[in-house]
Amino acid sequence: MNKEILRKNLDDVIWKIEKARLEVNEHQIVHMIAVSKYTTVENIKTLYSLGQRAFGENHVQQLEARAIELENLPLEWHMIGTLQKNKINKLLDIKPSLFQALDSIELARELEKKLINKNQTLNCLLEINSSNESTKSGVSPQSAIETYLQITEICPHIKLQGVMTIGAHTDDTKLIQNSFETTYKIYEKLQSAGANICSMGMSSDFELAIKCGSNMVRIGSSLFQE
Ligand SMILES: *Cc1c(COP(=O)(O)O)cnc(C)c1O
Repeated sequence: MNKEILRKNLDDVIWKIEKARLEVNEHQIVHMIAVSKYTTVENIKTLYSLGQRAFGENHVQQLEARAIELENLPLEWHMIGTLQKNKINKLLDIKPSLFQALDSIELARELEKKLINKNQTLNCLLEINSSNESTKSGVSPQSAIETYLQITEICPHIKLQGVMTIGAHTDDTKLIQNSFETTYKIYEKLQSAGANICSMGMSSDFELAIKCGSNMVRIGSSLFQE
């Protein structure tokens, strides 16, 4: 992709984030993760040269390949996709900045075992299935707080930093907003337990997510459209 197109896309996204966050609170800082799953390593390098540092992938295999190929750049890698148990060791070897899709107590227990073996810790977000869609992973909003506190208690090598959600899959803005508001309420209650990241918002809904309190957005297609 042409560098000028990438620059324009990045500027557009940053400007929209800026506008949305200023409408909420000038002190609200919003981090932007560039989701590189559908793009090339070349485009990641270009975005890096334009100042972007945080990137997200949803498959461990691709995350590993890219983290290795780009290991000379000071990038921050986020694993944003569902993690299969047989990929845990691979993920831990990459030492990502943040694993955003911790979606069950069972996975937390498996992760904890492997973290103990490797004498490592891992920053994670609890994924919440805020729209109760059967096709989505994540814990239900009803059980989110209990699950979060339980993981904090029984998995000392897992450093929970907050919550992540994918907005409702619909054109109905009200329903998308509901899923963000549900997640934000959970996040608010967990702040006393150390939560400081509320990751919600993708290309189609990040402005709405920010208005609902998101402080981390994950943007893919808007950055890489030609
Ligand atoms: C792909 C993906 C994104 C980015 O989606 P876009 O609509 O391309 O911005 C964000 N979060 C998760 C979990 C994803 O899998």
